[in-house]
Amino acid sequence: VKLMRLGPSGAERPVVRIDDTTYVDVSDAVTDYDEAFFGSGGLESLRTLVEERTATGRVESFGDERIGAPIARPHQILCIGLNYSDHAAETGQTVPDEPILFTKSPNTIVGPYDDVRIPRTSTKTDWEVELGVVIGRRTSYLDSVDEAREAIAGFVLVNDVSERAFQIERSGQWSKGKSAETFNPTGPWLVTPEEIDDVLALGMWLDVNGVSRQRGSTATMVFDPYFIVHHLSQFMVLEPGDLIDTGTPPGVGLGFDPPVFLAAGDVMELGIDGLGTQRQTVIAPR
Ligand code: ZN
Repeated sequence: VKLMRLGPSGAERPVVRIDDTTYVDVSDAVTDYDEAFFGSGGLESLRTLVEERTATGRVESFGDERIGAPIARPHQILCIGLNYSDHAAETGQTVPDEPILFTKSPNTIVGPYDDVRIPRTSTKTDWEVELGVVIGRRTSYLDSVDEAREAIAGFVLVNDVSERAFQIERSGQWSKGKSAETFNPTGPWLVTPEEIDDVLALGMWLDVNGVSRQRGSTATMVFDPYFIVHHLSQFMVLEPGDLIDTGTPPGVGLGFDPPVFLAAGDVMELGIDGLGTQRQTVIAPR
């Protein structure tokens, strides 16, 4: 299934996408796509409900309603750095022996078509198309990488927007440059794993103002989603609904010579095969 949330920011309702034009409203049966939903086997009961409703024609058409992030605000957003061999090369860094972990504030999540706001004093706001992994069950100390498959609810497109000066030049942790408001556009939908043939063969792209910037594939990931979930579970408890941004392919603004950064009025468009597309307008600081 493909989960979506429609409606105004902060008041989205859960639906299930059927195709480009239609969806099934499940908001009378599901409170939200949140920890309680994923942690209580909600995905399984949802499948039955959606089959019943499509069979009886309880299907609606998408209008011009806002599309929100497909998951409620999670407990945590964990991010993996330098996880594409070709992106590590572009930044002149070596591929790490272990996944590089940083966090992003959970309140960075916005919808896939919402504005992205440049933070105050920013000079180096940058883009990162990424495969997001959503956790499906409480997960701790997994014994094997294979067990991680059972811990994943689905995959989602994310833009790990980053302020490079805050991230790199202001000392301390990368989180400083990753947690500004609106810095994690998410969606348009969460797709469950059985609907993706091979999560390690998905094309991914990002354009700014119609200019091609990122082109890549999940095939060049250093640590795959299962390895990452197993690895992280050795250090912390992952909760249902938690989001992991798994790293970005080449073509970030920092990697160009000279570097290219975002300004108010710029438009980012991005996508991953099977996960839909996003479009954000960049707006000025508060
Ligand atoms: Zn990233």
